[in-house]
Amino acid sequence: MKALVYRKKGEIEWAEVANPEIINPTDIIVKVEGFTFSHADYRPYLGEDDSVKANTIMGHEAVGVISAVGNAVTTLKIGDRVAVGCIIHCNNCSDCASQNYANCQNGGFILGTSENGTHAEYVRVPYGENSVIKIPTNLALEDVVMLSDVLPTAYENVIKKVDFTKVKTAAIIGDGPIGLSTFLFLINNKVKVDIYGHHQVKLDFFKANGAYETFTTIDETNQKKYDLVVECVGNDRGTFEAAQQLLGFNGMLITIGVFKNPVKFFLNELWYQNITIHTGILNVYTLPELLAKIESQEIAPHKIVSQVYGKDDVLTAYHAFKNKDLFKIVVKL
Ligand SMILES: [Zn+2]
Ligand SMILES: [Zn+2]
Repeated sequence: MKALVYRKKGEIEWAEVANPEIINPTDIIVKVEGFTFSHADYRPYLGEDDSVKANTIMGHEAVGVISAVGNAVTTLKIGDRVAVGCIIHCNNCSDCASQNYANCQNGGFILGTSENGTHAEYVRVPYGENSVIKIPTNLALEDVVMLSDVLPTAYENVIKKVDFTKVKTAAIIGDGPIGLSTFLFLINNKVKVDIYGHHQVKLDFFKANGAYETFTTIDETNQKKYDLVVECVGNDRGTFEAAQQLLGFNGMLITIGVFKNPVKFFLNELWYQNITIHTGILNVYTLPELLAKIESQEIAPHKIVSQVYGKDDVLTAYHAFKNKDLFKIVVKL
């Protein structure tokens, strides 16, 4: 089969490799119909993550059809269409018992990192019954492939944490796919949302889809304050500090961005403001809820997809991350 194989920093290849096989009785094999990319898929290539071994197949987001199941699999069968959740979990360890799936002692964020991932014609999914969700065949790939990561990340970290009786205004820092996913949920909840970003094409897209105002820096806002501030950038760019500046009295700060270094926390100022902070990784426990929202057309996740490529253009699709005007890129195999 063909797969997108990480060789070393600066080198990635759409290469011929061996098909995956069932190793454990709880495994399933999925014939991939389409996949999408995350920043995590670029970090090893960019030299920002040296934990991924050479010759690993990248990717943790995909939709496909089950082509093989292990002996212990009873609730899924060959031919079922599924979306793969980016968090693999065993449902058997103490972390899984508390729904802390991202820290599953036998799984977690392993696809495309310590295990071969989804950017391939076939992928082995460990603990398949717990780690995928069945998808109706009539739903568009561009909608359902967002279930793997970008939808549950925003839904579980923001929508599930916020009391919407108290939140009327929000700022999203970051104009990428996670910011957009968060935005689509917030406007559904009747929140007036401002976007802070650096890419005019994307900011225009937010505006056209119902953003109240867009800004390129917090200095433009004349000290505007919000009930909710969602930081979706990370990478030590000063965005956590900026988020604190935008927080109003009784405000809630949620940070989904991934940071490598410690950040400044202005406790001396915020103590008086009775704020709440939440941060964390997704646990992919909301997929049935999110699928129902796609089916009822309450949400339209294909809006997060900027471009779709075919199987002959996988490398072009991978390198499209260099175009900062795009949100998610999908490959249809
Ligand atoms: Zn992802
Ligand atoms: Zn577990």
